[in-house]
Amino acid sequence: MRYDGYGFGNISQRVPPFDDPSCRPFIITGTQTGSCRSLGPEHFSTVTGCVPEQNRVTSTGPIKPSSEAMTHATLYEVDSELRVVMHVHSPHIWSAATRLGLPATRATAAYGTTAMTDAVREVMNQALTRELSLFVMGGHEDGVVSFGRTAEQAGHALISILAKAYLIS
Ligand SMILES: [Zn+2]
Repeated sequence: MRYDGYGFGNISQRVPPFDDPSCRPFIITGTQTGSCRSLGPEHFSTVTGCVPEQNRVTSTGPIKPSSEAMTHATLYEVDSELRVVMHVHSPHIWSAATRLGLPATRATAAYGTTAMTDAVREVMNQALTRELSLFVMGGHEDGVVSFGRTAEQAGHALISILAKAYLIS
């Protein structure tokens, strides 16, 4: 089994201020924390700003933010109401994406690039993405992103699509 049963990925949550359009800070799991059985404060970083054109984020905290922090930042930039973003590597969902008709970012947009930032903005404009609270990353094998106003919403989006992917596989 790929990933040895681990569910690699990263999770983030918006933190105040919520009313400043120029600043949308969030807390995100740090780089290389995917295999940690339990997470403590030392595994989290606060992203305080981002420059998509330079593919650069600024952060504070005891660890560097996940290399996929820019994708999270882009979602929070697109929708100020979002509070939680989850990114997982799911071979089951990813390989079933076409048959399930899931929204996807362009396959030519590789993860961690400015092209991915543009692709995420595009896919977030699709009504189906908003309806499902989820999209797959065409240019990032196994990459799936869900989001919501609550952790429950983002988590439910992932689990319900995973169940559908199992059903058709
Ligand atoms: Zn990833």
